[in-house]
Amino acid sequence: MSGTPAVHGPTGTFDNVLLESEERRALRKAVSDLGRRYGRSYFLDAVREGRHTDKLWQEAGALGYLGVNLPEEHGGGGGGLAELSIVLEELGAAGCPLLLLIVSPAICGTVIARFGTEEQKRRWLPGLANGSLRMAFGITEPDAGSNSHRLTTTARRDGSDWLLTGRKVFVSGVDIADATLIVGRTEDARTGTLKPCLFVVERETPGFEFRPIDMELSAPEKQFHIYMDDVRLPADALVGDEDAGLLQLFAGLNPERVMTAAFSIGMGRFALDAAVAYARTRQVWKAPIGSHQAIAHPLAQAHIELELARLMMQKAAFLYDAGDDAAAGEAANMAKYAAAEAGAKAVDQAVHTLGGNGLTAEYGLASLLTASRVGRIAPVSREMILNYVSHHTLGLPKSY
Ligand SMILES: Cc1cc2nc3c(=O)[nH]c(=O)nc-3n(C[C@H](O)[C@H](O)[C@H](O)COP(=O)(O)OP(=O)(O)OC[C@H]3O[C@@H](n4cnc5c(N)ncnc54)[C@H](O)[C@@H]3O)c2cc1C
Repeated sequence: MSGTPAVHGPTGTFDNVLLESEERRALRKAVSDLGRRYGRSYFLDAVREGRHTDKLWQEAGALGYLGVNLPEEHGGGGGGLAELSIVLEELGAAGCPLLLLIVSPAICGTVIARFGTEEQKRRWLPGLANGSLRMAFGITEPDAGSNSHRLTTTARRDGSDWLLTGRKVFVSGVDIADATLIVGRTEDARTGTLKPCLFVVERETPGFEFRPIDMELSAPEKQFHIYMDDVRLPADALVGDEDAGLLQLFAGLNPERVMTAAFSIGMGRFALDAAVAYARTRQVWKAPIGSHQAIAHPLAQAHIELELARLMMQKAAFLYDAGDDAAAGEAANMAKYAAAEAGAKAVDQAVHTLGGNGLTAEYGLASLLTASRVGRIAPVSREMILNYVSHHTLGLPKSY
């Protein structure tokens, strides 16, 4: 594989069994080895040539990494979010942050495993686990970005079928996903506080239309508009109970936040490793640039902040895997916030450390400047997390 120099650095060290079990450390090492075998150049070549990263996805699936959180009886690894976040973090730290890991096994796999019928589990979980099937997730709407209570995608019954109408925006990977899990409402709950319903819409369903959005983002996964006008779905497209409401939705959204934290931390580690390697050897005066504190201190700060964010992410994953959805929700929001900030700062500092080389294609870092912003916006913006912590955690009044 050509292009970017290999960079191995200190940011992945996890040598304390009290913090991480032998099994998880072995998983971390194995995924890291896989990711480094592909490396940043594989990922960037795919982006430049307009290809997807299917080969890595399929190999990760065959090795059991994609479904490490899914139930064993349906082809998964029987682990939890702690394991799946390790997979994404390590692939990102190797330069291959696979965005669809946040969506396919983490949101969709979890929701189906927890609330799907036996038939839905049989249909989807083994494929999501081994990588032969992928699922996208559509919640965002043009007029309901940060405010999900304004969702207007509506499902009405027609005999035993459902007819689904609505618009979605920024949905990742619709073109390569076999189906999209769409968040809507039933006709009876069309207005007011969101009572969401989740529908599996297979890609080839007549009337399910999608168009790519021209993003200034260097990633193999594209974002899409989705258009649905009375798209006919069978009764069993509904996942779970139409009256279960937010509980079911957050069973998927909390993993999404934890995985977005892993996405940001992995990317930040990759950038920081590259910067540290460069700063050790690049010399323009008497000593390597890494000896100047103006270069060294921001890198040290970035490392500390990534480590702190990772501890919060581990807490959130631990709480989620232990079944405490409420506590996991708060921790997942905080982890996503901390990781997005730490990741974006690490990338920014890394690009600066490399001087002109920070902006060359050879080093592959500048493309992370936009990619690292994703964690600040999606799936929930940093302002909405600060709103959540202000109101929910600190009990401050709401202005909106
Ligand atoms: C790369 C990428 C991938 C994505 N993938 C998916 C996907 O797979 N599926 C999906 O459904 N969605 C996806 N999204 C959408 C993403 O979740 C939304 O962009 C996000 O929820 C923000 O919504 P918005 O863009 O409409 O921003 P808006 O809601 O319009 O917000 C704009 C700005 O205003 C701020 N703001 C809004 N309300 C308040 C308030 N009350 N207080 C303070 N500030 C406020 C926000 O913080 C933000 O900075 C993706 C987005 C990106 C960029």
